[in-house]
Amino acid sequence: MSTQVKFLNGLNTIGGNVVTFTNQQTRLIMDFGVNFAPTTTPATDLLNDGTLPNLPSLFQNMQSDLKSTIFVSHLHLDHMGALRYLTSPTDVYMSQNSADLYQVLINLGVEHAPYAKVKVIDYEKPINFGPFEVTFFETDHDIRGASVIRVSDGKHIFVHSGDVRLDGSHPERVEHWADVLHDNKIDLFLLEGTEFSFENQNDEFVRQTEQSLQIDFANIIKETEKLVVVNPYERNIDRLLALQNTAHENGRKFLWDHRFTVILRSMGIKNVQEIDWLKVMSEPSHYVVQNRFDQLHDLDQFDKQFVYLHMNGEPLGEYDPRFSELSTYLETRNVALQLMGASGHAKPDDLVALAQHVNAKQTVPWHSFKPEKEASELVSAGLNVYLPTKGEILNYN
Ligand SMILES: [Zn+2]
Repeated sequence: MSTQVKFLNGLNTIGGNVVTFTNQQTRLIMDFGVNFAPTTTPATDLLNDGTLPNLPSLFQNMQSDLKSTIFVSHLHLDHMGALRYLTSPTDVYMSQNSADLYQVLINLGVEHAPYAKVKVIDYEKPINFGPFEVTFFETDHDIRGASVIRVSDGKHIFVHSGDVRLDGSHPERVEHWADVLHDNKIDLFLLEGTEFSFENQNDEFVRQTEQSLQIDFANIIKETEKLVVVNPYERNIDRLLALQNTAHENGRKFLWDHRFTVILRSMGIKNVQEIDWLKVMSEPSHYVVQNRFDQLHDLDQFDKQFVYLHMNGEPLGEYDPRFSELSTYLETRNVALQLMGASGHAKPDDLVALAQHVNAKQTVPWHSFKPEKEASELVSAGLNVYLPTKGEILNYN
């Protein structure tokens, strides 16, 4: 029987990319994100306007002849944000680290997906679904538990890269799965292309890494007598742990808000302390404090005497109206908004080298505002590239 590969979403956006693999009565779906979906909008509207992937049976409780299973490469909203809209109970496979983090977020009420039946798939332990075999490989992205997903129908091999970088803390994971896939002689490689969306992303002076971020953070701690405030993303557990370690090594205590405290303790991080503002007020120079945008006004009491380091927390960028609110708040207090993020996505040059290493029979660039730019560089590197359109089906006989 043949396998149909259908591209449902995310072909020229960052995230929200969804592909299905269907053979006989089995349908595998990966990932399951949305780009942006206000929670008050009904699922039917989001389905009709194309925000949700075109899978009505999963969102409208309709009967389907197909047995659907969802796979999530990692726990970023643009890869799993549609789970909350499910209306029929569906198995959702993810790595152990993803499942652990997801459970904490559900307990906190940050996530809510009553119809997602979460199941763990171990790395490099294939599981069969009808005629398919699915294997997860551990990769490197700015979230724990991030995975690459390989699908085989016994005759063809398809791979979804998820999100990936090569200058993170674990390039060896990426090298490993690229080696395996190279040997597998895979048919189709779906490769993210986030950094092709922007200019100058190969430039070493522009590019921050997790490692350089910690060095800069340490230097700021050493140079200032003021309270240091950081705004990181709560799902990047490894960065949070590194920040706490850097603070401790440089003689400062690190304090977290309640939500971060619960998340970090649940993920097994030791010495996690919750904010006590009285202590911080008495000796601001002894502390680093994490602050979420929702609690920005906790900083009112510091009378302009703090340093603010924005580290990929919300609001992420200028497209979010809260970003100008944040800028204005800091500006009126004469506090500089210092951007100290690091990307979870590979540099364009690294993506091309990765695609060459894997050397699939066909490579599909997606998860990018400029997939055609990625495509032309991959073609120049000698690869066979295809740019599908939304809803297009490729048949593998
Ligand atoms: Zn991601």
